[in-house]
Amino acid sequence: MSKQSPVDGRGNTPLLEVSNLRTEITTKNEPVRAVDSVSFSVGRGEIVCIVGESGSGKSVTCESITRIIPQPPASIRSGTVSFDGTPLSTEENALRSIRGDQIAHIFQNPQQSLDPVYTVGEQIIEAIQMHRDVSRREARAESVTLLREVGIANATARIDDYPHQFSGGMKQRIAIAIALASDPALLIADEPTTAVDVTVQARLLELFDRLSKGGMSILLVTHNLRVVAALADRVLVMYGGTIVERGPTAELFDEPAHPYTQDLFESYGSIDDRRTTRARREIPTAGCRFQNECPFVVPECTSGAQPAFVPVTTDSNHMVSCVYYGGSYESNPIRNTDRTTDTQQTEQSTEQ
Ligand code: SF4
Repeated sequence: MSKQSPVDGRGNTPLLEVSNLRTEITTKNEPVRAVDSVSFSVGRGEIVCIVGESGSGKSVTCESITRIIPQPPASIRSGTVSFDGTPLSTEENALRSIRGDQIAHIFQNPQQSLDPVYTVGEQIIEAIQMHRDVSRREARAESVTLLREVGIANATARIDDYPHQFSGGMKQRIAIAIALASDPALLIADEPTTAVDVTVQARLLELFDRLSKGGMSILLVTHNLRVVAALADRVLVMYGGTIVERGPTAELFDEPAHPYTQDLFESYGSIDDRRTTRARREIPTAGCRFQNECPFVVPECTSGAQPAFVPVTTDSNHMVSCVYYGGSYESNPIRNTDRTTDTQQTEQSTEQ
């Protein structure tokens, strides 16, 4: 069953606040707006999922938060990031102490987190001792526990193995263990379950749910809408480098408002499945970014900036960036579209 949303961080001050983030990527021809006008928050103990196709700006957003994105070719042009009520410094030394301590990243490719010349145990123990004053014996015992939690069998023996002695899926789980070793307040996880089988995926999702209930905030990028439905408190839908819809998970799944979200949710499986059926169009530089694919486009959509966010219903944090929800249209052909979405179908799939 879909998780009910506590909306905006369970009533607390958000742990993470991102405002008007804009990151460009330099290409051979011209800079590309990889991320533009992106604003959102993550509450304490909240799981926020970012969904959208490859190239929609999800990973660039995550990597811009703590500035781990390589500059160049990227360039963070504007925007502010506040963590625990304090603006994050843009100085590398200050950021380095935050990264891996209070904010941990899990990447799609676990190789980014693993050093091939040290055993996995040495790497987890180092991460624990870097952040906490515990003996090596205690750190080793904790490392074994962490490896068990992420589903590594025979952890007591395997702690002394090197990364190359593990499969790709196991490496990803070890990378997650290293990320958790510092007990971060915020975990930023970019497609963390892509390389693992469904059994391990279920175990990791259980772990994320348990961590969030224990107070850890999680910003999760995933293509798997069933994962989103089961785990997220809130959802951000990205298209063309910007957020086009956001809201509590149950409301967004019950009534996806943006034509792009509706299109995405029709598959109710993996966004990868859906992507194969959609033609990629150029992202326009003015007006709504979805205009070249939108069956409801009107002249108002083609000029100015991306439409402002407006509430989908009057008493909701469910917001959409689309002219039809702004009140100037008597009828809304998007809302009235007879969609084939079926929340029950999703919930059943999730429970399997
Ligand atoms: S603003 Fe216009 S082009 Fe964009 S999603 Fe809404 S109707 Fe479609």
